Amino acid sequence: MDFKNLISHCKEYGFIFQSSEIYDGLSAAYDYGPNGVELKNNIKQYWWKSMVQMHDNITGIDASIFMHPKTWKASGHVDAFNDPLIDNKDSKKRYRADQLIEGYTEKIENKIKKDVEKARKRFGDSFDEKQFRETNGRIIDRQKKIDDILSTMNKALTDENMEGLRNLIVDLDIACPESGSRNWTEVRQFNLMFSTQLGNIAGEEGKLYLRPETAQGIFVNFLNVQKSMRQKVPFGIAQIGKAFRNEIVARQFIFRMREFEQMEMQFFVKPGTQHEWYNYWKETRLKWHKALGTPESKLRFHDHENLAHYADAAVDIEFEFPFGFRELEGIHSRTDFDLMAHQQLSGKKLQYFDPSINENYVPYVVETSIGCDRMFLAQIANNLVEEVVPDADGKDSTRVVMKLHPSIAPVKVAVLPLVKNKEEFTNAAKDIFGQLKKSFNCQYDEKDGIGRRYRRQDAIGTPYCVTIDGTTLEDGTVTLRERDSLNQNRVNIADLKSKVFAGTDMGNLI
Ligand code: ATP
Repeated sequence: MDFKNLISHCKEYGFIFQSSEIYDGLSAAYDYGPNGVELKNNIKQYWWKSMVQMHDNITGIDASIFMHPKTWKASGHVDAFNDPLIDNKDSKKRYRADQLIEGYTEKIENKIKKDVEKARKRFGDSFDEKQFRETNGRIIDRQKKIDDILSTMNKALTDENMEGLRNLIVDLDIACPESGSRNWTEVRQFNLMFSTQLGNIAGEEGKLYLRPETAQGIFVNFLNVQKSMRQKVPFGIAQIGKAFRNEIVARQFIFRMREFEQMEMQFFVKPGTQHEWYNYWKETRLKWHKALGTPESKLRFHDHENLAHYADAAVDIEFEFPFGFRELEGIHSRTDFDLMAHQQLSGKKLQYFDPSINENYVPYVVETSIGCDRMFLAQIANNLVEEVVPDADGKDSTRVVMKLHPSIAPVKVAVLPLVKNKEEFTNAAKDIFGQLKKSFNCQYDEKDGIGRRYRRQDAIGTPYCVTIDGTTLEDGTVTLRERDSLNQNRVNIADLKSKVFAGTDMGNLI
């Protein structure tokens, strides 16, 4: 389904609304609707279970959003959490310099893709894409151009060479997407942290930041958790919570927002063992994504070219969003950078006594960090499909169905009396609904014909529909319809709970 239709589907079916819509919205802020909040909670639960419940040596915390301002000095965010921005003097629009350049290379990449698709049609089954890309002269030239541009850009970013970035934009003759003008300002560094002011302290002293990542709440609690839980290295601390970034260009729906939610886990390890654990978490996290049914072809690792100041290795898990492969999750080997920095600035020791070697050390850290909202978008993008299926009369009809893994679906089962004007049907249906809702998030629906009600449930991804009809009253059975196979089987009312449980249990995933 194309991206525009995906966004309107999310609104129509109560997944995501524009924030403050009656005031024409606030850009890059979104509200999760009734079905959206269920899906989001299920994603969070899946993450939490697989991190905390399934690992004896990982525990969770829920730290506050406000932290002592020195936290952000120590972490490097005050000095280095910047994006390079550039303004167009004619349109007055502001851009991230690196995104303008990447936009330019994406256009070249699209030309390559077009050539590949043309060739695929021409050669049919015998087409070998890899070979074609490696031997076609025009594609080789274009790919070289992309690689050269990106490597020049990455070098300028690493060296914080703002003039170099501007020169690249000018040399490539990049125009403002809004006005077409090439009248650019200088490139400047822009700090992404939102700040606010404490009520009882004036000036700089009372300046507070909204946390730009949840990780620092974990680092400053490293010893509290280790001691209170009597943890031994290696151990991890997990957290889910809001983070805030003043993104210059926030776009692509919930992909890039100014307020978003992160699911982060910091794993504390003995120095020297970090690469082993880095590889362990790379594989473990990829498995987590695949268990949901996300195909391998839509996921890929992307090693960081320019490592952040704290990392000795870093990789993104990228997902193929409707606008291309983009970062969904980051796995970073952060060394002892954060704990050391907090130790220095706070003057408090953040060390671990390792009884196996009788020594104190500051542990190294491997982090896994995923945006809950990006994960939500990836799930919708991967699972929302239009397909042709036989309708009740056996004729072909098109349905829009969200093929979410049943254990994260917002509604697990819908209870539907075949007709609404027969009290025996509706009473029996309400009885079943009353029983099932104790165990699952359920919906009762009696409006419209049964076919339309099935389609409404398909559109929000409900894995099971229970239909109550004349036979139910005679023999205590109902029809259980499965979303994906469309199979309809008669099931005893007494067996419903265990059947739905077996099909939707999150234990199937982890
Ligand atoms: P990007 O390069 O896309 O800005 P990042 O490398 O700055 O992302 P991290 O600091 O590694 O991101 O944050 C970890 C995760 O948090 C990302 O993988 C992403 O899923 C999520 N995330 C980061 N920024 C945003 C945002 N503005 N909106 C939604 N999710 C975000």
